[in-house]
Amino acid sequence: MSVRALRSTFGPNCHWCGLPMDFDEPYGRPESATIEHLIDSTLGGVRAQKHRRLAHAICNHTRNEFRMQAEREFQRWISARQASGKP
Ligand SMILES: [Zn+2]
Repeated sequence: MSVRALRSTFGPNCHWCGLPMDFDEPYGRPESATIEHLIDSTLGGVRAQKHRRLAHAICNHTRNEFRMQAEREFQRWISARQASGKP
C-alpha cells in the first residue's frame, strides 16, 4: 500500500502519537508521513505478516532508536550474565 492508499484507509493521523502528519512533497521532514511496518507476532516466525501504517518520520525514527537501545541493553545484560559464569 502506498502512502496515498494508507492515508485513505487509516486517515491523516500518525499511528503512534495520533497527531496529524504532513503530506506535502518533498518527504523527509520530521513531521512527514512514513510507512511503518508492524509485525504481527501473534502469527509467529515465518508466517508473520507485516501490516503497514502511517507514522511521522520522527515517531518512526524514535521508535527504532528506542528498540535498538533496548536491544543493546539486553546484549549488555547477557554479556554480564555470561561473565558471571553462574546459571
Ligand atoms: Zn507521530
